[in-house]
Amino acid sequence: MKKLTLDRILQSQGFGTRKWCRQLIDAGEVSVAGAVIDDYRTAFDTTGLTFRLFDEDWDFHEHVFLALHKPPNFECSRKPSHHPGVLTILPEQFTWRDVQPVGRLDHDTTGLLLMSDHGPFIHTQSSPKSHIPKVYVATTADPVTPELVALLLAGVQLNDEPAPLAAVRCSAVDSHRIEIVLEQGKYHQVKRMLAAAGNHCAALQRVAIGRLTLAGLGLEEGEWCYLDAAELALLV
Ligand code: URA
Repeated sequence: MKKLTLDRILQSQGFGTRKWCRQLIDAGEVSVAGAVIDDYRTAFDTTGLTFRLFDEDWDFHEHVFLALHKPPNFECSRKPSHHPGVLTILPEQFTWRDVQPVGRLDHDTTGLLLMSDHGPFIHTQSSPKSHIPKVYVATTADPVTPELVALLLAGVQLNDEPAPLAAVRCSAVDSHRIEIVLEQGKYHQVKRMLAAAGNHCAALQRVAIGRLTLAGLGLEEGEWCYLDAAELALLV
């Protein structure tokens, strides 16, 4: 059981500075189990806690683990330069509680992007040592041939890499789409591997991470959801 005062609870959930959260509570904006709580020193067990603020119910999350179906023209960088950042798609509290994208997708890549405020989770998920497969479907400019699939499985040499990089799995989806599974996340890796194999990536979508699939989550482009324990267990 973890007991916290209401001002700390609101602050931990990303509703602003402690001072601002106290003001919200003083103003009678926050209720728990149907009762307005206007003393910020009131403490609650955070396990399973739900509070009401801004006419919405909020469940307490010690950490958040989110999946976003990333649309095109959003950057994963913390300081986006040419397009809005992916964090702008989420409610503002997530920025306040320092939610970050787990790894990066290019601004024009769509699909499954994990986001979290849990440092060890971000680290494990992004580390190549974890060998978590990332599944991409690339639309190619030229036809997908058995030779292309064989080359990507055998490994292609990229300019700045000491050794050839190979797909863990690879197969044709149809005449101009190829599924490529990677365990690393090098800069523009899919696009550069396709170019090195003599084709061109016209569009790219990440469809799965481990056994967690975009289709299974049922997210439309721009939609996000919390991941529950069963979904997190698929990230291997
Ligand atoms: N490979 C790429 O080339 N781009 C991405 O966004 C992800 C993997």
